[in-house]
Amino acid sequence: MKTIIEPFKIKSVEPIRFTTKEERIQLIKNAGYNPFMLHADDVLIDLLTDSGTSAMSSKQWAGIMDGDESYAGSKSFYRFEAAVKKITDLNFIIPTHQGRAAEKILFSIVGGKGKFIPNNTHFDTTRANVEFTGAEAVDLLNETGKHPEIRADFKGNMDVKKLEEFINKVGKENIPLCMITVTNNSGGGQPVSMQNIKDVKAVCSKYNIPLFLDACRFAENAYFIKKREPGYSNKSVLEIAQEMFSYSDGATMSAKKDALVNIGGFLALNDADIAQQCRNLLIVTEGFPTYGGLAGRDLEAVAQGLEEVLDEHYLQYRIRSIEYLGEKLVASGIPIIEPPGGHAIYLDAKRFLPNIPPENFPGQSIVCELYIEGGIRAVEIGSVMFGKYDNDGKLIPPPMELVRLAIPRRVYTQSHIDYVFEILLEVFKKRNSLKGYKIVYEAPMLRHFTAQFEPMG
Ligand SMILES: *Cc1c(COP(=O)(O)O)cnc(C)c1O
Repeated sequence: MKTIIEPFKIKSVEPIRFTTKEERIQLIKNAGYNPFMLHADDVLIDLLTDSGTSAMSSKQWAGIMDGDESYAGSKSFYRFEAAVKKITDLNFIIPTHQGRAAEKILFSIVGGKGKFIPNNTHFDTTRANVEFTGAEAVDLLNETGKHPEIRADFKGNMDVKKLEEFINKVGKENIPLCMITVTNNSGGGQPVSMQNIKDVKAVCSKYNIPLFLDACRFAENAYFIKKREPGYSNKSVLEIAQEMFSYSDGATMSAKKDALVNIGGFLALNDADIAQQCRNLLIVTEGFPTYGGLAGRDLEAVAQGLEEVLDEHYLQYRIRSIEYLGEKLVASGIPIIEPPGGHAIYLDAKRFLPNIPPENFPGQSIVCELYIEGGIRAVEIGSVMFGKYDNDGKLIPPPMELVRLAIPRRVYTQSHIDYVFEILLEVFKKRNSLKGYKIVYEAPMLRHFTAQFEPMG
């Protein structure tokens, strides 16, 4: 087997800025030991997120120049609409400025008090948009998906039995739609099998409930199906994606993920009446239905990106570069969620730093050390992000303490990934000298973005 190479050559480069360790010790201190507060040009390798951080292709940039900025009926809209329809075969395609805008519009119409939305795992903006309407967001992930150490092919699957029990418990009339998130971002970027999508669809059809895909990473999910699910190895990723959407009645999408752009999204659906209501709301909050909060040039870039993301050399490189980092980490005994998902490596901070208790934020300690040691920016997904307090002000930690290293698409090469591994190994070797942290400032909501920390004694 030969090395899987980056399936592109580089036409335009963006220099990254090197800093010294002494500078980084000062910079992270000035940032209150919160990497969200760092200036991005003080970061060498930025693995904070894979959202909106993709490198666009020369054809996408050509599309930016070619974009039609007509207020109504732009030709860029029709190209965008055709690109989305080719993959989803859904009737009504509504552009939005990003994924959460599609969610906001959809749930404003179908949500509301007394309603329930089941999902494998709601992404945080999806949950927020469901709950904002007074509806309840319910996660029905299968059991293996909840165990970081279990290796399984489709840890993003929904528990179909629980779904049917849930429908019978709350009543089908209170479930305006059911969602499946592909891949399951909040659950480690784990894929959902075609069989599971079919099984969920069968239950939904039985009770007349529409099925929607949260389709942000549909191409990565389709590639996992091709590689892992019997019967799909000879199908093209496009055919697999088309089959996934064939079981759906609608979809929301953040184009900042698998459409390989820096901004954009859409809502797509078959129900003409709901589509009309969504468009009416779109005009109030986003814009006219043929641009929906985007410029014509953005629509061109999305249309082109949706073609490129289904290129199998691209997907092979994409999934392999994450698996490659995962293999090196596992071989060195560094604990991660296994197997690696489609867009990120999740370090298991509990096993990495068993001596630092959740109330001293082991994930935050790793995140700070990765920056100091190598200028790498990652994000804590544990007690800082999801911790709550009980009545006595004692921390209630979430089940897992994780650090996410999200890999931007087409941005870093194998040597960047090798460097990330070397720094991780260095931090792992000196894990016994790492200190815990305490919070010295926190906002009442979403504290991880702005919290300030100090290292313990
Ligand atoms: C990013 C994301 C969203 C929200 O999209 P934005 O473009 O960030 O608003 C929704 N669902 C999932 C699974 C995501 O990863």
